[in-house]
Amino acid sequence: MSENVAKIRLLEQSPAVVGQFSEWIDKADWQAVTECHQGKTTRDVLRALGKDTLSVEDFAALISPAAEPYLLDMVAKSEQLTLQRFGNIVSLFAPLYLSNTCANECTYCGFSMSNAIRRLTLNDTQIQQEVAAIKRKGFDHILLVTGETNKVSMPYFEQMLPKIKAHFSQLSMEVQPLETDEYQRLKSIGLDGVLVYQETYRRKTYLEHHLRGNKSNFNFRLDAPDRIGQAGIHKIGLGVLLGLEDWRTDSMMMAQHLRHLQKRYWRSRFSVAFPRIRPCEGGIVPKSLISDRQLVQLIAAWRLFDRDLEMSLSTRESPEFRHHGVRMGFTTMSAESKTQPGGYAEGAEEALEQFEISDDRSVADIATMIRSQGREVVWKDWDPALS
Ligand code: SF4
Repeated sequence: MSENVAKIRLLEQSPAVVGQFSEWIDKADWQAVTECHQGKTTRDVLRALGKDTLSVEDFAALISPAAEPYLLDMVAKSEQLTLQRFGNIVSLFAPLYLSNTCANECTYCGFSMSNAIRRLTLNDTQIQQEVAAIKRKGFDHILLVTGETNKVSMPYFEQMLPKIKAHFSQLSMEVQPLETDEYQRLKSIGLDGVLVYQETYRRKTYLEHHLRGNKSNFNFRLDAPDRIGQAGIHKIGLGVLLGLEDWRTDSMMMAQHLRHLQKRYWRSRFSVAFPRIRPCEGGIVPKSLISDRQLVQLIAAWRLFDRDLEMSLSTRESPEFRHHGVRMGFTTMSAESKTQPGGYAEGAEEALEQFEISDDRSVADIATMIRSQGREVVWKDWDPALS
């Protein structure tokens, strides 16, 4: 056994004995993890393809260049597993941007503090206008999104969340990382899911892209999914911003993170997303580009790695990619998304969007496209009464 393989195996065992995931990452060797996927062979790929229960090492084989000739086999298996586990459906949701105010400096984001843009935090009336506009489109699952600032924090969330939840069956948030007791309080007033994307698991690169503000605290963000799990939140969402670092190594780290969380918070459901860096105000050039074909490989590998995982596809991706993605393994899609506060209501004040979306088709068009792929559209896939 090579030294690197031994290191990876050792790391795979370690989450059973550590507490927060940051304790694991401090022991992880980025280079060894990179060499792990770089060293995978056809034999490793075939072994992984034939297994029912995959390790992180098997996942590494499936995302490696050695798996590229087997892409069609991977996609076919991904489609079959998704149908078996989730049925013939794709669930639709809408993001609701409540605020673009942010006290952080992230090199890839239009909301960064130093960008001279018009800032807007929606008030009660504006939120109700957005809610009404989103409801008219048929959505019953909503994702609340904000920048990260003390002005848009717990008091604002506690005031607004029940009023929004009154209109939707399922409510998730993608906001600044919070403390465990804060997640518990939000759960008690209707919060169902929390997404906290780590962006990259490489500390050095993370610090190069998160220059100022609370988000530059790598460990606090990394351990947020542990706190969400401890708070008993129903769904925990993970993601890396594909392009900031070697996408294969970051994906292996996220696979390890998922296993760590699943061992501890087995009552929660998990989701992953695949955001690729998109053009934005003051944006950056990606360090590690992931092609469409490689993204398909990554998505199929995730489904083979975990059959129960919810997988989400956003409007960052092109209509063509989303068209083909419907059958591949996704369970959830956003549609007709607006990435600026007040974006849905007619006559609302204009504020800068966080990033350019790529698929701006209407909800009706997306629903038609999904049905043309032999899938049914679901507006509500879960109810608190079911848990
Ligand atoms: S990515 Fe989030 S935290 Fe960073 S600048 Fe944008 S909104 Fe703020």
